[in-house]
Amino acid sequence: MLNPNKIKKSEAIKIIRLYEEYTRAVVAARIGPLGFPACGDFFLLSQQKEDELQEYLFGTSNLVQLGEMWGIIKEPKSKKTKLYCIICKRVQYRTLSGLVCKKGHGGASSISRTEVKKIRLRKKKREEI
Ligand SMILES: [Zn+2]
Repeated sequence: MLNPNKIKKSEAIKIIRLYEEYTRAVVAARIGPLGFPACGDFFLLSQQKEDELQEYLFGTSNLVQLGEMWGIIKEPKSKKTKLYCIICKRVQYRTLSGLVCKKGHGGASSISRTEVKKIRLRKKKREEI
């Protein structure tokens, strides 16, 4: 990400060039004469140039990432399930990217509370021997 307080002349020139390319594509897409060939292509080009500019300025053009970075969007609170992680036997939470336990075992298979109890009981018996 560029530091606005330490911007170099070459970086400023690149930003202006990218913004001009973006603006030219927007002009062609929005107010090109009726029947102007490939208005849709210019719209697509304007989006590509906008992405390029955002990547150069902010390090990404992913709107979800930018939204999270700026606190505009928040990932919804993960919901506790009745399922348990097969690896660490801890409760699993439902997130946008799937099930995960507190230990971070994302996508690990799930087992029920009853199965967890059976496993703990077997382990305990083994320790007693
Ligand atoms: Zn786990």
